[in-house]
Order: sequence, then structure tokens, then C-alpha cells
Amino acid sequence: MAIVEALAPGSDGRRRLGLRSPLGETPIGEITVATADDVADAIRRARVAQKAWAARTVEDRAAIVNRAVDAILAHQEDIIATLRAETGKTRAECVFMEILPACDFVNYWSMKAPKDLADHKRKLHGYLRPLKRLEIVYRPLGVVGVITPWNGPFSLATNPTAQALLAGNAVLLKPSEVTPESSAWAIRCFHEAGVPKDVVQVLYGDGETGAALVRGGVDKISFTGSVRTGTKIGIACAEQLMPCTLELGGKDAMIVCADANVERAARGAVFNSMLNTGQVCMGVERVYVVEEIADEFERMVREQVAALRYGPGEDVDVGAVFWDKQLDIIRHHVEDARKRGATIDIGGEIDRTHGVFYKPTMLTNVTHDMEIMREETFGPIVAIQRVGSEAEAIRLANDSEYGLSASVWTKDVEKGIRIAKQIEAGSVCINDATLAYGVPEAPFGGLKKSGLGSVNGTGALRSYSHELPIVIDRWGLDKEDHWYPFTDKTLRNLEYTLKYVFGTKLRRFFS
Ligand code: NAD
Repeated sequence: MAIVEALAPGSDGRRRLGLRSPLGETPIGEITVATADDVADAIRRARVAQKAWAARTVEDRAAIVNRAVDAILAHQEDIIATLRAETGKTRAECVFMEILPACDFVNYWSMKAPKDLADHKRKLHGYLRPLKRLEIVYRPLGVVGVITPWNGPFSLATNPTAQALLAGNAVLLKPSEVTPESSAWAIRCFHEAGVPKDVVQVLYGDGETGAALVRGGVDKISFTGSVRTGTKIGIACAEQLMPCTLELGGKDAMIVCADANVERAARGAVFNSMLNTGQVCMGVERVYVVEEIADEFERMVREQVAALRYGPGEDVDVGAVFWDKQLDIIRHHVEDARKRGATIDIGGEIDRTHGVFYKPTMLTNVTHDMEIMREETFGPIVAIQRVGSEAEAIRLANDSEYGLSASVWTKDVEKGIRIAKQIEAGSVCINDATLAYGVPEAPFGGLKKSGLGSVNGTGALRSYSHELPIVIDRWGLDKEDHWYPFTDKTLRNLEYTLKYVFGTKLRRFFS
């Protein structure tokens, strides 16, 4: 039994996929995979509808988009039920990782957009200021393809969609085939808020549909998912000279310094390794703890992990593994660690009695050559390696192909910031983790193989538009000094500018 399995094609010849819940592995529905023709048709409709949407003021769009918060709140029980069925995440995680951030993102961006996307004058620097003016206008790109993964299917669909809509684009969302209905709720809520049907659409399907969308003639792709797929999408976008943001996988390091609050660090290590059953792109995937406090730290982690409740019910801390495919990766990484000498302190086993579960697991005596410290595991595992110094922890944290996020745990925040500056990651938290994506002001994006571009921060919102500079002449004279015909005077004036503006201390007034 697989969570996603191919069914016989429909009478129209389209591929169908059957879905099971990771809770109990019972059938929960099916989707028909959108073909390249379906994608082309959706893009055509989106292009027509986008014109009227873009013609509205940004204030008008923001007022409509903001009403999606009301729709989310009104439907929260249904959204949670869908999320629970499709992912098996706990109710607390449905609220904490999906409903709450989705409301926050929609509210934040719709409040920010009227200011951040407003036409404005930008002051020119000294040398040009007397001659020209500059105005900036944000022009929508057109139709944006948003392709999302299964681990945060509602909030990760809502965030880029809200930003792209606010900037005046139409959006075609291609959710993961594992969690199609959870993501489709985002689209329903935008429709209920008043966004016209063809301005925001959902396309069900798997990689075939995603690939058709990327090649279908849209104007930007916002992709969240694995490095493997992200690389293919990056290549396809490059071939079309089309902008894209790629939010990819990670192997986030947690550095526990000798002066850390050990209890907070231990609780933080467990929570941020296990949250969402460990299936968080910026979850803690590897812990480096300095030797001096390692005994105490590991003892506290052991107590915490031993106390965790997992299973399909409402009264648990850790839910299901959302996709059985992920179970194979988790099993493989733990087995590799065991063979190479790691200690499995707790857990280390699959449990399929009531669905797709992996027991909350603690590994110690872990070393840096193990796959559990090098490849994204995406499972409920806290893996701890002891290090001789903070410098060694920084070196190991940086010894990775990934660079999504990281965390430093110390009572000395200034030292934490110094360490943060040395870590090769797109974002760093101090005395917390798994947080940066949830801070919309923070320009969240990965380094190295973890991605390209950022999904939050003002730059992210503006990246759904073309930032159009309009340069305006101030004086309207018949001719500029440096236009034809070139004369001795032309050259002399240019040389004077060089000599007296840039060749003296006066140049500081012209910057
Ligand atoms: P995935 O790459 O397998 O799939 C992501 C999406 O891409 C799905 O909708 C899938 O159907 C689609 N897809 C697959 N092949 C495609 C193709 N050739 N062309 C276009 N689309 C295609 O990823 P996943 O397994 O769904 O998600 C888990 C991954 O996502 C993890 O690596 C995780 O770290 C990452 N992730 C990153 C972030 C972030 O913000 N950096 C957030 C969440 C998840």
C-alpha cells in the first residue's frame, strides 16, 4: 500500500492517482493529473483574467486578499480535517504550522503591499540630481506558477500566492500530489475572499503537471521542494530566461555552546528536530554540542525524547510520516549511522500498526561521515555529535552542500551573532530554530544547494513585479550638452566634470 498510487486512467484517458491517509493508510480520494493541454488552457484563462486584476489599485487588491484571513478562520476546522487526513500531522501542528502562519502571511503582506508596491520617487545622487528625476513603478509580471511540496501544504501555498496576487499577477498553483486538497484550501479561501476564479487556480497533478507548468509560458516560477526537482526547474527557467525562486532542502545545524542554557537547548533540540515529524525544511537535522556540557545536554534530550507520545490520535506530540517514500530515506540513514558506530539511544524503528509512523528517535556517538549528518533525513530524529570546541562546530556546520538555516545556542548573544556571521546558511536563529520562514520581514532564502532568491522580506514581495525605473529629464532643453555634434566644448565639459567633481574631495557631496 502506497500513500500515492497510480489508478487506471479515466474515461478521458487522463492519469489518475489514488491517495491514502498516513493515518491508518485508508483511501481518502483521488486526483486526475492535469495534462499539458489543461495547463495551457489554465494559463490562457489566467492571462485574460489577470488584466482586470492588475488594473485594480494595489489597495483594492490588498483589501480583497486580506479577506482570505476571514475565510481561513471560518473554514479552519475543515482545513485541519483535510490536513490531518492528508498528512497525519498533529492538530497542534495544523494550527501552529499551517493556519496561524497562513493568516499571518496574508494579513502581513496585504497590509504591507500598498506601501511596498506604491509608485514612488527615488532621490537621485548628487551628480545627476540637478539634471534628472527617477520614479519607480511596480508592474506585475503576468502569470506566476507556484509549485509546492507536501510538508507544509497549506501555509507554503498561501504565502507565495498572496504575494503574487497582491503584486497584480494571476497565480496557477500546482500542489504536491501527496497533499492536493490541503493546498487547494488556500485557493478556495482566496476565491471566497473575492479574488476572481481565473486569477487564482489550482492544477492537480504530479511532476508531469509541474513540468508542463514550468514550460507552459508563465512569467515566473515560485518553487518550494527538493534540491533534485529545484535543479531541474532552475535549468528549465534559465533556458527560457524566466525568473524563479527556488526554496529547497536543508541540513540545518544546531550549535550548542558551552555557555548555553542547557535545558532550553535540550528542549529546543527535541522540539525543532521532531516538529512536523521532522519534516521541516529548516528543522534541526544535526546537533553539535561542545564536550563540556554534552553529558548534561544528552541526558536532558534523552528524558525529553523518552517522554514523547506519537501516533494517530489527538493526544500525541509527534504525528505520522506524511509519505511512505520518506520512510525509506529515514530507515536508510538510521541504518547507515548504526553500521558506522552511532548509538540508537531511543527509537530507530518504523511502526506501521496504525499508519505511517517512525518512532521518535535519539542518536548519539554520531560522526560527520554518516549520512544522517550529510543528507536531508526529514524524520523525527535528534542526532547529536560531540565537538571539542565552538570553532569545530562552526567548521562542521559549514561542511555541507546545504545552507538553508542554522541555530546557535548561547547565553552570550553578542557571541551568538559573531558565530552566526561565520555560518554558511541563508538565515540563523539564536536560542531558537525552525523560525526564520515564519518571520515575513526576514529575507528567507537558502545558500549553496538550498536555493536561489528569497521568499520573504520586501524584496520577495517586489520580486513578483518588474521594478520599472522611469528616468525623467528635468529641463526639457532643446539639446543636452553631450549630444551631437561632438565639439571641443563637449569634451572640455566632460573633462571638467571628471576633474572637479570626481578628482577632488568634493566627490563625497556627489554620492
Ligand atoms: P519535490 O521536489 O519532490 O516536489 C515538490 C513539488 O514539485 C511537488 O508539487 C511535485 O509534484 C513537483 N514536481 C516534481 N517533479 C517536478 C518537475 N520535474 N517539474 C516541476 N515540478 C515537479 O519535493 P517534496 O518531496 O514535495 O518536498 C520536500 C522537499 O521540499 C524537502 O527537500 C524540503 O526540504 C523542501 N522544502 C523546502 C522549503 C524551503 O522553504 N526551503 C520548505 C518546505 C520544503
